Amino acid sequence: MDAPAESTSSPEGRTEVDPMTEEQLAEAKRYSGEELKCNLADKAIDLLFLSVVALMLARPLDNWLRESLGLENLWLRLAAMYLVVTCAHFCVSFPLSFYSGHLLEHKYGLSHQTFRAWLWRYTKGIALTLTLGLLLTEGLYLVIFATHDFWWLAAAAAFFVVSIVLGQLAPVLIFPLFYKIEPLDDDQIGKRMEKLAGGTGLSIEGVYRMQMSEETAKANAMLAGLGTTRRVIMGDTLLDGFTHDEIDVVFAHEIGHHVHRHLRSMLVMGLVFSMAGFFLCHWIISSWWVSSGWTRELHEHVYVWPMLMLITTLFLFTLAPIQNAISRHFERQSDRYALQRTGNPQAYRSAFTKLAKLNKDDPDPHPLEVFWLHSHPPISKRLAMADEVSAVLD
Ligand SMILES: [Zn+2]
Repeated sequence: MDAPAESTSSPEGRTEVDPMTEEQLAEAKRYSGEELKCNLADKAIDLLFLSVVALMLARPLDNWLRESLGLENLWLRLAAMYLVVTCAHFCVSFPLSFYSGHLLEHKYGLSHQTFRAWLWRYTKGIALTLTLGLLLTEGLYLVIFATHDFWWLAAAAAFFVVSIVLGQLAPVLIFPLFYKIEPLDDDQIGKRMEKLAGGTGLSIEGVYRMQMSEETAKANAMLAGLGTTRRVIMGDTLLDGFTHDEIDVVFAHEIGHHVHRHLRSMLVMGLVFSMAGFFLCHWIISSWWVSSGWTRELHEHVYVWPMLMLITTLFLFTLAPIQNAISRHFERQSDRYALQRTGNPQAYRSAFTKLAKLNKDDPDPHPLEVFWLHSHPPISKRLAMADEVSAVLD
């Protein structure tokens, strides 16, 4: 494993940037390339699997559940369909999940997690997905059952409510299932953060330290939660490996998300996208059925569920460039905010160079990859912004 990137404070207190070496750059490009291949393969597997299930296996499976297992009850059969299809999906994607989530990370010295620890985390993820997914699937059919032709509208409204509830619960109930998260207990850093957060409405009580270093070399920070659960969560890899000036910049970036109300905007975006997505499902399935001379009553048919998943997956894949463009716009807004709030472009340059080194991010990926898949601007673009802002500050 590479030693963590060094960044030093010179006697004048100016943070010095230590750019990536040729070797580090080549390794970051190799790692990002492999990660990209895994990501694309994963998407291809999802689409292929769901296509086969939706178009070929769903009806025979539905019949089998009804006739051989005697599941006449719609809700029980739907639950069985969900569990069988989702578990099969996990089995099909397991080799790739294991390679990209465990082997690849070890190959590049990014993970020091044992196989057992990885498997335990993976299993917890599956258990959570199965539980939430089952509730959401049954809930969706309940909405379809109750609202018929307008189900897409009602389902989008319900999805909006669920997003708000999950947004509130995630940092207090879901993240702690996977990481140890505790309030930040560093007075010095705490005081600096208090100063930075002053007047923004973000409480310093809400800064948390997430234990990541036991399993990964990567560093990360995020703004999470809604209302009373709103908080900034920073990886211990970041808090321990970065200078105070660099931590200030990363923290100010998270304040930027809070000040610009990005989480709220994302909820509204989710409402619009889900409305469009559910309407598309409704339209495709209705036209498909009418043209096939079948009944239009969606709720009677458990075997429609895989088709709903296939359409949703295709829809999200097609929409990803728009979602990612909006996300990159938010990131740029927060970067600009961090630069102006701290007035320290040098610490910004050094913090983001360090993050790129630790996470082995390709600083300058292919524009098409960024367009389709990246929720954050490439490091080269973020550093260019520092130059822009510092030209204005100087
Ligand atoms: Zn951000």
